[in-house]
Amino acid sequence: MGANAKAKKAGVENELKEPTDFGEGGYVEAQVLVTNACNLECSHCFVFREDNPNSPRDKMDDANMLHQLRLLRDKHGIKSMLFVGGEPMIRKDLVFEGMKLFDKCTIVTNGTYGIPSVPGHVVVVSLDGPEGPSDAIRGAGVFQKVKQAIFERDPADGTSVIMQMVLTRQNEEHLEAFVEEVKDWPITGLAFTFYVPNRDDRSSLVWRDLRGRDRVVERLIALKRRYPRLIKAHVAALEMMMSDVCMDAVGENGEKCQLRKSLPLYMGENGRFERTFCCYGNDVDCERCGSYMVFNQAYHLAQGNLGHFPITGGTI
Ligand code: SF4
Ligand code: SF4
Repeated sequence: MGANAKAKKAGVENELKEPTDFGEGGYVEAQVLVTNACNLECSHCFVFREDNPNSPRDKMDDANMLHQLRLLRDKHGIKSMLFVGGEPMIRKDLVFEGMKLFDKCTIVTNGTYGIPSVPGHVVVVSLDGPEGPSDAIRGAGVFQKVKQAIFERDPADGTSVIMQMVLTRQNEEHLEAFVEEVKDWPITGLAFTFYVPNRDDRSSLVWRDLRGRDRVVERLIALKRRYPRLIKAHVAALEMMMSDVCMDAVGENGEKCQLRKSLPLYMGENGRFERTFCCYGNDVDCERCGSYMVFNQAYHLAQGNLGHFPITGGTI
């Protein structure tokens, strides 16, 4: 039975569409935005920026998305998938079905719908500082809700749970306090990444120049030395973020960025996926990119490791 006949039999209204042609290249890893909807409105969110293809609200039903993910997996050899949103747990049944298609999966969630139990896979849970500062960014009551979900889960269920803080100029002063707050929580590790601005972003989230960010990177390196097992980062990769060398890993327009070797799948206007310039969207400022994953990947490349090492894949 053909895919569309199966869809009809299953009562699926929309016809299954063939995926967008993303060329013949191979992608070990891809990222899929399973929903544009989110129950939070974080101040540093890159998903809902103007320049990103986020206007259609979930124009892909489950059957279509799974069909296209399956075909893209087979065409491009995708082994590892990052499920993001919006808030992916709003479409949790779709996420759990989609996870069956790939060897290694990561769900990036705000944690307010509970922590999914996905043995053998990774769940990245976002908080942006201790309770007060994090709630100022993510919304009142979110910190306690996430904390409760972390403590209610079964820590022996085989799921790797990584807590992640996005560092901005707005919350950087709370870095050490956050580590002290969560260091004894039942999590697999703690990850940090820095804000990735748009080109015209002059907001209070961005450091005036990269030397301001350097001071925070240095503090993070000190924390890594203090808590080597807890903090999921390589000192050498963090050193590559420093302002005097960061362009070596990035390039003015992202031409050196290893993260662009993954395939970011946003929901397009026509019920098919659309890819953005990189996983952070379209109008990004590579010169000020603070994505730890970029520098982690560059670090591994410098070591001669040719695989893909996303922090969120648990293989730092
Ligand atoms: S939880 Fe994530 S997707 Fe939702 S607003 Fe915050 S950063 Fe954006
Ligand atoms: S913004 Fe960062 S992740 Fe995106 S292409 Fe530029 S350097 Fe790479």
